[in-house]
Amino acid sequence: MKIFTVAANLQQYLTELATTKTIGFVPTMGALHSGHISLIDISKSTNNITVCSIFVNPAQFNNSADFEKYPITTEADIEVLKEAGCDVLFLPSVAEMYPSDTKDDKIYELGFLEHVFEGKYRPGHFKGVCKAVHRLLDIVICHNVYIGQKDYQQCMVIKKLAEIIDIKVNIIVCPTLRAANGLALSSRNQRLSTIGKEKAALIYQCMEFIQQHLKSGNLTMLKQSAQIALTNDGFKIDYFEIVHANTLSVVDVWDGDSKLVCIVAAYLEDVRLIDNLPLN
Ligand code: AMP
Repeated sequence: MKIFTVAANLQQYLTELATTKTIGFVPTMGALHSGHISLIDISKSTNNITVCSIFVNPAQFNNSADFEKYPITTEADIEVLKEAGCDVLFLPSVAEMYPSDTKDDKIYELGFLEHVFEGKYRPGHFKGVCKAVHRLLDIVICHNVYIGQKDYQQCMVIKKLAEIIDIKVNIIVCPTLRAANGLALSSRNQRLSTIGKEKAALIYQCMEFIQQHLKSGNLTMLKQSAQIALTNDGFKIDYFEIVHANTLSVVDVWDGDSKLVCIVAAYLEDVRLIDNLPLN
């Protein structure tokens, strides 16, 4: 696996390769787990070359304590990527990603995405995501970008960003990989105790309960029963909602037809966990 830390070198290397090879790109913040590797595997199955980036992006942390606590496991990540057959790793510093001579931050008009759910609870988060992903897409010349449905709203943001900057890459949303008990794999799970990891599976169980009992008509009671179960088990809920899959508007009464997704953000043991499940 080739490792690049200098943006210009990687850009030049990939520009040459892209004339004869298809290139898939998996952006990450490291502390890699099987969920990340599933994206690498999907990229490898359809591209000649797979590039992974690891960059813990300070611009997307609205909470500095969360940034400081973010797990960094670079040596182990390199080994895992080599084993997965990743071809190229981009490992930039903050200075390499955000050179001091670049002009003011660009404005990304993300519309409603910035004001609801993750946008509302993490002000500035998606602007920070766009700042990093825009820069990465300028550097990592590629045909296909692989992102996880685990971060449902982020997938919508990245598709919107691709539209805004008018970049010709395919954005491919990949399924969420879960532990055997249903807990969505996440770098943040490392901060949960063993008991916490078991308990956290309740998030998935609640979403599954909703999926199994979904009927057209009023959804309020169904939603509330899940919210109560989580709260009674010690979760502090930011949101647990049933929303339209495309607009993220809350659905209290369902017509039995439109596409729904259950989206959740909740704290357990002071760790903020997010998850979602398409319901129909
Ligand atoms: P992160 O390192 O958390 O920024 O995640 C990097 C990429 O991996 C993002 O596109 C995530 O949505 C994706 N990802 C994270 N967890 C999972 C998972 N459990 N299954 C599939 N993809 C995931």
